[in-house]
Amino acid sequence: MKRQRWAALAASKRTPEGEVAYSLYLYDTATGGADYVSQAAARLPELLQDARKALDCPHGCDAACQGCVLTHDTQYHLEDLDRHRALELLSDAFLNGLALPAELRAFGSYSQLEMEPLILALNREGQRLAVTELRVYLGGETQEWEPLAWRLRGELIRWSQNGASVRLIASSVTLEGLNASQRDELAALIAYTGAELWQSTPSGSDLPLILELGAADKRVRWAAQAISALVPRPTWGGGEQGGPFVRMKETQPLAPLPEAWRRVVPADLRQIAPGLVAFSITHELDGSSATFGERVWTHLAKQVPSLAERLHGGEPLESVSYTDRYLRSPLVLLLLHEWLQGLRAYPGGLTPSTQVRVETATLDRWGVESPRLLFHDWRESDDRRQVANQWFQETWPGFSWHEAMARDLPHARELTMRWHDGECWVFRLDQGLGYWRIAPRTHAEFPFEHDVARQITNLREANVGIEPLNAGYPTYWYCGRRESCSV
Ligand SMILES: [Zn+2]
Repeated sequence: MKRQRWAALAASKRTPEGEVAYSLYLYDTATGGADYVSQAAARLPELLQDARKALDCPHGCDAACQGCVLTHDTQYHLEDLDRHRALELLSDAFLNGLALPAELRAFGSYSQLEMEPLILALNREGQRLAVTELRVYLGGETQEWEPLAWRLRGELIRWSQNGASVRLIASSVTLEGLNASQRDELAALIAYTGAELWQSTPSGSDLPLILELGAADKRVRWAAQAISALVPRPTWGGGEQGGPFVRMKETQPLAPLPEAWRRVVPADLRQIAPGLVAFSITHELDGSSATFGERVWTHLAKQVPSLAERLHGGEPLESVSYTDRYLRSPLVLLLLHEWLQGLRAYPGGLTPSTQVRVETATLDRWGVESPRLLFHDWRESDDRRQVANQWFQETWPGFSWHEAMARDLPHARELTMRWHDGECWVFRLDQGLGYWRIAPRTHAEFPFEHDVARQITNLREANVGIEPLNAGYPTYWYCGRRESCSV
């Protein structure tokens, strides 16, 4: 990188803990910006090494001269130039501190510390290579897996659309550790992203490999510190789990996948629990959100005659309970409300005295910064809770809303219905109500910035067209009677 393409400023400041720190401001000086600066963070240790060499003046001057740090750019800061003070700052101890400790050198002495989150790192390296293949290694505690909420999901779609072959790799032990709901999610994920899933044989390498990017004659590989980095989840690649990451670039292509590895397709992953009927839904429930519930129950009754019989029976439901970690947007809450409303049409359905209970995960910080559309996530936990409580209680006075940490909730998205005589039915949705999106070109603003009353009014009057988010793959519903249920 050429020094004259950059300008830099340093400013000292104090951290919140009172320690002295420095901020380095780097900017591109090329017209329009040539984006050299964005590469700086990844190569900071090298840059500081180079900076120290520049301070080594061939004339041995006292502070600054044209042989060292006095340049066209720095001439206006003459009183601030002092190469000796700068040398004190860039001491051996300081520079050695930036070198990778031995235990982080996953790839030997060529290992480099990855200074950026993995998604940024991946895109950065991807711009420099004609990438033909991306491999992502999955593992860690299977209990923690949330394949459809994985931060890399959107990126995988982009990589495969750009023609790279995307391969997700997990060991047979890991895949066997996933429960039925997680396997369903993984099936949907690979169908949506166009990725291949490969079952590897467990290996015992020191630092876990997490990512590999391959081109015709080059490859870039990243390793994590701990196996927990390999869990597909919303916080993937950020360094707080299993980081920091190290990378290595080599002038050779990726090795072919070992012969013993096996390709896994969505149908291999889906498992139907005994006693449940499975069916797929793609466009069957498309249409107005206001009549979503009507369509769902008509469809279900057609698929499962014994359910139709129960719904047309004389006795209404005692209780209904829905659990789903991802009730985060007004759209999803709207579809849940309409789904339950659809049960009011049946004598064996919902009445105002039915106990209705909804359980979901607490909101965390990875939603859209400034939500404004119906399918964006709420930022305000209180708003979501009050909207749900007040709106649902208008119809079912006994409604209750429960929040817990995602890890304390089941993975399954499940509706449980119980009648007064104890008969119990369960509906499991592989992707929950997140399968549907608002039809394109629909105007669907949501007043997140207004009070709860206004938000409820918006939902009460909402009438938007819905359709599958990815029509290429159906959503799978499983339903059936259970011997007993706890709601
Ligand atoms: Zn000098």
